[in-house]
Amino acid sequence: MSRAESIPTARRTTLVDELVSGRRRFHELPGDIGAAEAATIRRTALERLTGTSLPHIGHHSLDVARATRHNCENVIGAAQVPLGIVGPLPVSGEIVDGEVYVPLATTEGALVASTNRGCSALKATGGVRAHCEDVGMTRAPVFRTSGLDESRELVGWIRDNEKRIRDIAEATSRYLRLTDIRPFVLSTTVFLRFRFESGDAMGMNMATIACDRVVTELIEPETGVACVALSGNYCADKKPAAINFHEGRGKRLFAESELSAEVLESVLKTDAESLAEVQYRKNFLGSIAAGSKGFNAHYANVLAAFFIATGQDLAHVVEGSMGVTCIEPREDGGAHFSIFLPAVPLGAIGGGTGLDTQGEALAILGVEPNPLSPGGAVRRLGEILAATVLAGELSLMAAFTSRDLARAHERLARGRHAPDAE
Ligand code: ADP
Repeated sequence: MSRAESIPTARRTTLVDELVSGRRRFHELPGDIGAAEAATIRRTALERLTGTSLPHIGHHSLDVARATRHNCENVIGAAQVPLGIVGPLPVSGEIVDGEVYVPLATTEGALVASTNRGCSALKATGGVRAHCEDVGMTRAPVFRTSGLDESRELVGWIRDNEKRIRDIAEATSRYLRLTDIRPFVLSTTVFLRFRFESGDAMGMNMATIACDRVVTELIEPETGVACVALSGNYCADKKPAAINFHEGRGKRLFAESELSAEVLESVLKTDAESLAEVQYRKNFLGSIAAGSKGFNAHYANVLAAFFIATGQDLAHVVEGSMGVTCIEPREDGGAHFSIFLPAVPLGAIGGGTGLDTQGEALAILGVEPNPLSPGGAVRRLGEILAATVLAGELSLMAAFTSRDLARAHERLARGRHAPDAE
């Protein structure tokens, strides 16, 4: 339940009236009012403004003060999303070695059941080998020059002053390490794609703060070249982009499993040849035909559910869900099944990870940042995410081969409310 910090009823009534009349705006509540009380006042005003009743939005255990400080403005309550669990999922990586249970928050019926079926198959066949490579978070300011000569001079200046740039950038956080600056020149426009390792944090804020410092303290004053925008879309943050596919952004995830013929048949009701054909015609040819970079069946589903559960930035599903599923039939009737996600921004600290339910989800996964070895917790998270994506992908691909997809959706997603499912 949200904590009610009491203010005199008359004052609360006045503030609600002011919000309803428009004399005061939602973000203009007095600073001496507690965050939970402010949320109640906004919600009450909103109920009157819209003629609605919002008891569920107001009923939660969210720490409103912390959420207001770090995550959301004009808070009125919380949106609830069902949280399911899958597992046990045996994972072997550089950090994880053993069985994990994975919380997934979703409103898409059948997703958890299907991913759980993938976990059962993987448990029966020796588990998943997972790898999380920290390729670093990118931010690319864009600069305006007078012409090609100045553009090339700027690029040369950056090369010659890399150490000074690094010193300023890395002074903004002890967890930040500048690993690369990639220039791209388009006539009078120059992009500088900075790449940072950011410990256990996803790193977008940290990278932005570091870039801002480098641009305003060093590049602009010393070169005289103006920065037009701190993010020049060459980053590329939260947009579909080939550069993220090829060069990576955040974490690059890999996972693979050897599936026996017996498990393919008994748990997944399929066989290697059928899986490989769906892979070839759907994930490869279908993606080529559509001009898609998602050579997979549904990475976005597992990613979104995992992101909501663990407090990631949901919009990163855009670049995160690119990737390639590969299925190779073996001579004994089994199959090598693998997934590859080139650009998954991921954090074990910061952003939404500090919220209570998200923190509990991270605890289920055993993810706990250690200041003495930054980066280990987020790589654990990445290995588990890779293995879970594989479980979800495997199950859905098998469902396609057995034509089970529509039946599962009818049974699990539409439930008893669907007229034609009754
Ligand atoms: P982000 O940069 O991921 O968008 P934040 O703005 O919340 O997210 O930054 C993360 C914060 O967490 C930084 O202030 C950083 O100093 C702090 N921090 C604490 N421990 C760690 C750690 N182990 N790894 C990375 N950052 C950490």
